[in-house]
Amino acid sequence: MATKRPHPSAAAPSADDDDPVDPSDELMFLALGGGNEVGRSCHIIQYKGKTVMLDAGIHPAFDGLAALPFYDEFDLGTVDVLLITHFHMDHAASLPYVLAKTPFKGRTYMTHPTKAIYKWLMQDSVRVSNTHRAPASSTSTSANDGGAIAQLYTEADVLQTLPQIQTISFNTTHTHAGIRITPYPAGHVLGACMYLIEIAGLSILFTGDYSRENDRHLIPATIPRGLKVDCLITESTFGISTHIPRAEREIALMKSITGILGRGGRVLLPVFAIGMAQELLLILEDYWTRHPEYQRFPIYFASALARKCMVVYQTYIDSMNDNIRSKLHSGATTGPWDFEHIRSLKSLDRFDDVGGCIMLASPGMLQNGVSRALLERWAPDPKNGVVITGYSVEGTMAKEIMKEPDSIPSVMGQRNNPSLAPGRKIGEEKTMIPRRCTVQEFSFAAHVDGSENRAFIEEVNAPVVVLVHGERGNMMRMRSRLLGLGKFKVYSPANCEEVRIPFRRDKVAKVVGSLASTYTPTGETIGGDVKRPRAEGDPQTISGILVQSDHKLSL
Ligand SMILES: [Zn+2]
Repeated sequence: MATKRPHPSAAAPSADDDDPVDPSDELMFLALGGGNEVGRSCHIIQYKGKTVMLDAGIHPAFDGLAALPFYDEFDLGTVDVLLITHFHMDHAASLPYVLAKTPFKGRTYMTHPTKAIYKWLMQDSVRVSNTHRAPASSTSTSANDGGAIAQLYTEADVLQTLPQIQTISFNTTHTHAGIRITPYPAGHVLGACMYLIEIAGLSILFTGDYSRENDRHLIPATIPRGLKVDCLITESTFGISTHIPRAEREIALMKSITGILGRGGRVLLPVFAIGMAQELLLILEDYWTRHPEYQRFPIYFASALARKCMVVYQTYIDSMNDNIRSKLHSGATTGPWDFEHIRSLKSLDRFDDVGGCIMLASPGMLQNGVSRALLERWAPDPKNGVVITGYSVEGTMAKEIMKEPDSIPSVMGQRNNPSLAPGRKIGEEKTMIPRRCTVQEFSFAAHVDGSENRAFIEEVNAPVVVLVHGERGNMMRMRSRLLGLGKFKVYSPANCEEVRIPFRRDKVAKVVGSLASTYTPTGETIGGDVKRPRAEGDPQTISGILVQSDHKLSL
């Protein structure tokens, strides 16, 4: 079990921290994952004997059990409610493990679109992960941003535990075990939500991953005006850094892509199969429609999973923004998710690699699978280019390639890379491939940047802020900036460091019977009835009342 000690990273602008607080008034927060890191999001909150678990992800840089949150640090059998914010692997991919292999017996919630995609995604991930054995050319390797999942659970586990997941809609409140939960749209990806959790009058808002940008298909994160929040748990992926404006980013992205095509190269866009990939497809389709001169270059999307999930995108058009909805209702013959210039690729075996093209391929982190196979094939040619558009997790090839190394290790083997042989350095443990292709990054990761996050934190105006889902440096910079505002108590705990956050609540105790009639207190009573100085003849003074409730004593 996690140790019970105050967290050193807690910091508060107020001076009254030394006042005693009834331990039953403390909110316990424990990150089992996602504390000072991006990946394997999973947090526990406890208040007044109720336990809520937030997300159940895996870490994309690790394999098997090492990719899990620190589940052995907490008794999952005590969790009342588990809330999944969205379908991304680092937020949902250890859920089958939790439901099938741990003592967890609480209730699990996610939104309708999240569950629809989760079902396809987890099945695909397990198949892949029977994994690294799958041929690299198969585009069913699309989803595997999460290491070897087959070591954690089977496809049967995924399917058998599906009925345990309850679906909920945005802006509707559910109550279980005295815990009220309300999901609000979070932007980010289809179905992503923030959760408002209310326990015994205390309100906690968990953002999950969120974005407030007007993009081409999602509703930006929104919460009701004037929502009272006592504790905000927010992501801090981008720390205090600022995104360049969306329109400029799109122009820069298209300039980079057309530049690579113009010099006779191939463009590799490593993407997670679902989410940001669909946003990129909308950008590319729009540009190709407006620029016929580029239409001779094919755009491929190598993801069997994304094909399956398109049905979900078409089903939940009403959960998207006006840009998409208006296309559906405009009477056009093609729907908003029908693409004229994008070709779906079932397998690399069917890919005629003969010249300039754009390839969106998974996984986004370039750890293995189709995107890695193409990287290893295309990296030696300086005409080719890799364009990174997502957030790259520490320890993955996507992060590594941005440092523009001279060579990269081959993990896909020569079988899939006939062009690999010339770059092989004999005698090295791993075969190395020269990297001469260009590497550029344009972030379309649907997360708030530093100033959007700060604006939201100020808007919510909760007295307590807990930062999660950020690399340590980014998180610390965000924390300093928030503390500089002098308005918030800010926590940024590492994994397994339990924090106890005091919430002072006024308590009222009524004195009745002989005690009330015999003695008149000299102090101000909570009810505000009597206040007078102590007189000579007063028999006794009451300076406090000892109340026993729930086996606990409060003065
Ligand atoms: Zn996410």
